[in-house]
Amino acid sequence: MSGNRSVVYHGTRDLRVETVPYPKLEHNGRKLEHAVILKVVSTNICGSDQHIYRGRFIVPQGHVLGHEITGEVVEMGADVELMSIGDLVSVPFNVACGRCRNCKEARSDVCENDFVNPDADLGAFGFDLKGWSGGQAEYVLVPYADYMLMKFNDKAQAMEKIRDLTLISDILPTGFHGCVSAGVKPGSHVYIAGAGPVGRCAAAGARLLGAACVIVGDQNPERLKLLSDAGFETVDLRNSAPLRDQIAQILGRPEVDCGVDAVGFEAHGLGDEAGTELPHGALNSLFDVVRAGGAIGVPGIYVGSDPDPVDKDAGNGRLHLDWGKMWTKSIRLMTGMAPVTNYNRHLTEAILWDRMPYLSKVMSIEVITLDQAPDGYAKFDKGSPSKFVIDPHGLLAAS
Ligand code: NAD
Ligand code: ZN
Repeated sequence: MSGNRSVVYHGTRDLRVETVPYPKLEHNGRKLEHAVILKVVSTNICGSDQHIYRGRFIVPQGHVLGHEITGEVVEMGADVELMSIGDLVSVPFNVACGRCRNCKEARSDVCENDFVNPDADLGAFGFDLKGWSGGQAEYVLVPYADYMLMKFNDKAQAMEKIRDLTLISDILPTGFHGCVSAGVKPGSHVYIAGAGPVGRCAAAGARLLGAACVIVGDQNPERLKLLSDAGFETVDLRNSAPLRDQIAQILGRPEVDCGVDAVGFEAHGLGDEAGTELPHGALNSLFDVVRAGGAIGVPGIYVGSDPDPVDKDAGNGRLHLDWGKMWTKSIRLMTGMAPVTNYNRHLTEAILWDRMPYLSKVMSIEVITLDQAPDGYAKFDKGSPSKFVIDPHGLLAAS
C-alpha cells in the first residue's frame, strides 16, 4: 500500500482531500510493536474539529484531522495480544498508554506518558498534540492497541447499527460523562446548554440514566427541533425571557439539579446577546440555573490560548465567570476531556440492546464520502443539524 487519502489541514476554512503516505507501525522515530493499522470504517466530524476549522485551535499545516474513528484491523505490531486481523474496533479519541498512573486510575483523559505527549497530560488523534495523525482518512495508526481498542464481538451485528455505534469513539461517551459528572440519576431535572451533537448525546445519556426531565437550550432552532421531536424539553435562547423563567415554565421552578455545558469557549450570549460570542455565556447560564448543592459537567472545551479571541482575557483562557454565585451555591464542577474507555463498552451494549432507539434520529446522522468532507465541515460550521459521518471506503453506504 503506498497512499492514504485523507482530510488535510491547510489553514482556517481550508481543508483538502489529499493522498499522504500510508501509515507505518512507528511514531516520532520509534517503532511501535503495541500498535495497529486500521482500515477506517467510519470517522465523524466533531465540534472539536470545528474549533480547528474556524482557526480557534492551531494545528500544523499538512496535518490529517479527525479523532472519531471506527475501523478494521489490517496490520498489527508483534506485541499486540488481544486483537486479530479483521477485528472491527472502536477507537477512543484519547491517545492514552494504559500504563501511567492516570490511565491505571481510569483517567485516560489525562494520560501522563511523555511519549503520548511530552508537553501536556493529554493525547488525541488529529490535533496539535505531538503529531498523532487523524482518522479522517482511509487508514490510521493506533498505538497501545490492546488498551485503547474496544472490539465489537459480532461484526455483522455491529455493522447493522454502525450509524449509532460510530458515536462510541467520542460524543456519546462524552455527553454521558457530562451527565455522570453532573450527578444525573433517576428523577433528576437536567439542563443541557447546547444542542450540538455533544448536547444531543448528553440528552440521550441523561434519559438513559433515568432523568425525569431533560431540558436543552440553544440558539439554533433546527437542532432544538430534533430534540423536541424525540420528546425532550427545549428552550430557545434567542428568547428575551430570562432562562430561569423559561425553565420555570417547564418545571414550575427556575432551577435544575444537574447541568451540562455542551458548548465550550465559542459560546454565545442569551436573549439580546444571542448573536454575540461570549466565552462565559454557557457557564454563567449554568451557574444561574443549577440549584444550590447541584453539579455541572463541562465537556465543552475551554482553552489556555485562543488565537482569535473576542478579547485579550479570552485569548489567555481567562473568563468573566460568576464565580461568587457558583461558590456560594456550593456547586460541584467537573471539566476536561472525557475518558472514553470508562463508558464505551456499556454504551455499546445499550445501543445493541435498543436502549436508545431514538439516537440516530436525534443525531440526524448524515453519511458522506471522504471527498465530501470539506463540504461537511462548511455545513456543520453554519449550524447544520446533521452529524456528519465520513465513509472512506463506502462500507456504510453498502451496509
Ligand atoms: P457544536 O459547536 O456543534 O455545538 C455547540 C452548540 O452550542 C451550538 O449549537 C451553539 O448554537 C450552542 N450554543 C452557543 N452558545 C450557547 C449558550 N450560551 N448556551 C447554549 N447553547 C449555546 O459542537 P459539539 O460537537 O456539540 O461540541 C460541543 C463542545 O464539546 C465543543 O466545544 C467540543 O469541542 C466539545 N467536545 C468535548 C469533548 C470532551 O471530551 N470534553 C469531546 C467532544 C467534543
Ligand atoms: Zn470529537
